[in-house]
Amino acid sequence: MRVVSIPMRTRFRGLTVREAVLLPGTAGWGEWSPFLEYDAHVAEPWLRCAEEAAAGEWPEPVRDVVPVNVTVPAVGPEAAHAIVLRGGCRTAKVKVAEPGQTLADDEARLEAVRDALGADGRIRVDANGAWSVDDAVAAIGALDRAAGGLEYVEQPSASVEDLAAVRRRVDVPIAADESIRRASDPYRVRDLAAADVAVLKVQPLGGVRACLRIAEDIGLPVVVSSALETSAGVAAGVALAAALPELPYACGLATVQLLTDDVAVDPLLPVDGALAVGRPDVDEAALDRLAAPPDRVAWWEARYADVASLRQDRRS
Ligand SMILES: [Mg+2]
Repeated sequence: MRVVSIPMRTRFRGLTVREAVLLPGTAGWGEWSPFLEYDAHVAEPWLRCAEEAAAGEWPEPVRDVVPVNVTVPAVGPEAAHAIVLRGGCRTAKVKVAEPGQTLADDEARLEAVRDALGADGRIRVDANGAWSVDDAVAAIGALDRAAGGLEYVEQPSASVEDLAAVRRRVDVPIAADESIRRASDPYRVRDLAAADVAVLKVQPLGGVRACLRIAEDIGLPVVVSSALETSAGVAAGVALAAALPELPYACGLATVQLLTDDVAVDPLLPVDGALAVGRPDVDEAALDRLAAPPDRVAWWEARYADVASLRQDRRS
């Protein structure tokens, strides 16, 4: 295995550096990059995703490009406007409900995003579970007006029960993101009628084919999103988005630009608001250039051994 350590452009999810393991296989490199705090049980499906990629077991694509959204953090209106123009995407995902900010801040940001996108662009917001049910209902109405129409609201409240309650009280579609972390979660979202859209990430859910099965089972439109991977990992998300029978929404896969460097010869960055489907060539020189320090390599090797022994225990 090769371990890389890549500085982030801006702090994200509390991280300033992203570490990832690249595993070689007959089809190329698979990425294994569970966040550091996850235990072996949580990290195991992430490894299945990497092994599937390395073995080349992705399903056949039904499209050759995947539309993606630009992400607008909780910045002021001028900065938001500039990010949307620079992103070149027809869909923007805008962060809202940031601690320390007001609804008026969110409204001003959304007005600026609409101005930059034009009338036919699509705007979705992500509250990362910050609102109570009542706050969500009030905020969604106001933000829908400020944005001139919202495509959907991602994770307005934290629990699946609260998502379902919000969904019954608003007309804007609801997407479940944080509510879907393990393979059983999408079924719970479906059973409680908690969302109109499921955000799926290939690593936590055990790979491309596992996600394709989930998408089939739950019967909800899917937005494929990244777990802040390098191009090697994002390619697995693109493979899922490329294989879904229907792809009505832009995906959250334009995240390679959050890293200062990448493992691919041609990093998976959007062109005209879309990513090309295919497996990017991993650059051996980049694996050397980005190699993690020896103590971090040892840490990842130990983590890998933990997951392997967990599988051993399960079999015996
Ligand atoms: Mg989200």
